[in-house]
Amino acid sequence: MKKYFIIPALLLVTACSRPADPLDVLRNGRWIDLTWTFDEHSVYWPTNTPFSHDTVFAGFNEKGYYYSSFKFSAEEHGGTHFDAPVHFAQGGNSVEKVPVGQLAGEGIVVNVSSKAIPDPDYQITASDLQDWEKRYGRIPDDAIILLRTGFGKFYPDKETYTGTALSGAEGVANLHFPGLHPDAARWLVTNRKIRAVGLDTPSIDYGRSSDFMTHRILYAAGLTAYENIANLENLPEKGFWVMALPMKIKGGSGAPLRIVAFLP
Ligand SMILES: [Zn+2]
Repeated sequence: MKKYFIIPALLLVTACSRPADPLDVLRNGRWIDLTWTFDEHSVYWPTNTPFSHDTVFAGFNEKGYYYSSFKFSAEEHGGTHFDAPVHFAQGGNSVEKVPVGQLAGEGIVVNVSSKAIPDPDYQITASDLQDWEKRYGRIPDDAIILLRTGFGKFYPDKETYTGTALSGAEGVANLHFPGLHPDAARWLVTNRKIRAVGLDTPSIDYGRSSDFMTHRILYAAGLTAYENIANLENLPEKGFWVMALPMKIKGGSGAPLRIVAFLP
């Protein structure tokens, strides 16, 4: 007798959980900007030229109306930015070739800040990723993994955020910030199916790296990465959507990135 009640009840729950208008999910959700503003303080690699934004014209022109226009110049890999596979993989996709479907996906946050803040040379391990899975289940297929080291709170102070305010080769030699361990990258590309990895430091490899092995492993597998991303402390550890839209530079190994999260 009981089962005759259970089935209609299940149908009712299913019907009620589906929004009347699917666009209601978008209307009632919340957007979170994960992008740092580009300005003279934007963090670039010690060997890079800083971001510049110069006035072409700003003010009232001779016709009497207000007008402003500026020009900017930027290296690909500074500020909040996107890494395309060709950055470290010969024959890999350059920015404009990365399929638009790979620029969005279900996001998760792996919070390792309690380990990384006291140890700027910390490398995120496969077991950090597995700890997330113990709490929430297997990393979803086609997920975008955001690594929260906690270093975002130091941006854009170069000394605390990257370990050094020096520029050039001397700056590179003194970099200290956390990243993803190559073994963890290998575990991800071998055992899980993901679209991208992002984090709140200047590089997916930790600051001490000289062989950039994590970059090489991820990009050989066709993945992309987001570096210097903001506001990870405002995201839950699961249950949101990421859209990461880089400037579409032909042949680009990377590009300035506008990245946002959507919380339904
Ligand atoms: Zn990069």
